[in-house]
Amino acid sequence: MILVVGGAGYIGSHTVKSLLDHKYDVVVLDNLSTGHIEAVDKRAIFTKGDMKDTNLLTNIFENYSISNVIHFAANCYVGESITEPLKYYENNVAGTISLLKMMRKHQITNLIFSSTCAVYGNPNIEKINESTLTAPINPYGHSKLMIEQIIKDFSIAYRLNYIILRYFNAAGADHFGRIGEDHQPETHLIPNILFHLLGRSEHISVFGDDYDTVDGTCIRDYIHVTDLVNAHILALEGLKKEKAINKIYNVGNEEGFTVKEVINKCEKVTGKEATILYKQKRKGDPSKLISSSEKISKELGWEPKYSLEDMIETAWKWFSRFPKGYKSK
Ligand code: UDP
Repeated sequence: MILVVGGAGYIGSHTVKSLLDHKYDVVVLDNLSTGHIEAVDKRAIFTKGDMKDTNLLTNIFENYSISNVIHFAANCYVGESITEPLKYYENNVAGTISLLKMMRKHQITNLIFSSTCAVYGNPNIEKINESTLTAPINPYGHSKLMIEQIIKDFSIAYRLNYIILRYFNAAGADHFGRIGEDHQPETHLIPNILFHLLGRSEHISVFGDDYDTVDGTCIRDYIHVTDLVNAHILALEGLKKEKAINKIYNVGNEEGFTVKEVINKCEKVTGKEATILYKQKRKGDPSKLISSSEKISKELGWEPKYSLEDMIETAWKWFSRFPKGYKSK
């Protein structure tokens, strides 16, 4: 049985569905601070609660035979992490320490951890690989890098097999259209563009137009949530293979798009025209992040299947059907 911590969130809920489709049994633990109960597949066992609640974790580990933990639970807004750093260190770092302590106590030795390209900071190189220097420029990235270090040290001191996945920019929705992205508040680029194109805002804000990029707007590597989920399914298999154990992998499409290019693509997919409002740079935003995903491709056999267009199409389907996210259901 797999314990998915943070399984009611965006990437977590898509992973839970896929795990069940792959015939894994799943227990979800989520405090629903940002996740949605409606996002959790009914075939999973759901427990509402926090990973800092050691009694609750004890109950879960005593009641279910957990073989692996997949840990998604985190606060993940770059901007908020700058204004509320303690929230990020407390929930992300202290929360993970609590989870690890309980895993140790109950001899659970397999962990997949969701990390982020934010650990690289602002590397200003063409493609980032796993050996690129880690130098976060915001508390969110710092919190994830601290957890990576804790996991590595924990694994040396005690028995733990881990795989850390450093996600680039997740986007899109499940192809069946029943689950998707629903952040409150929504700060991410693609949902915000699509909300605007649905008529829910008067313009799309573009944060900064004088970055050192082709059109002055930031470059990101967008990755379809389904491709990201598949990396977790392969990582579960990888935890059984010597060569993949205790490794860190980037997960991205190896292709960068500027904010303006993403807006153009959204206009093309939806057939609607956007009104752009240029605003000041957002604090903590690196100018360009593009993944090299060679390592995960070689060692776990992972290949992304979906393009930026697929991400926008599936997200558009989701937002058009459920304009208020899970509240519309
Ligand atoms: N962005 C923007 N307008 C928005 C949301 C985001 O211009 O309404 C920009 C943001 O400054 C960054 C890029 O889009 O350069 C991707 O931001 P997002 O929040 O989607 O992901 P992040 O890279 O911060 O994790």
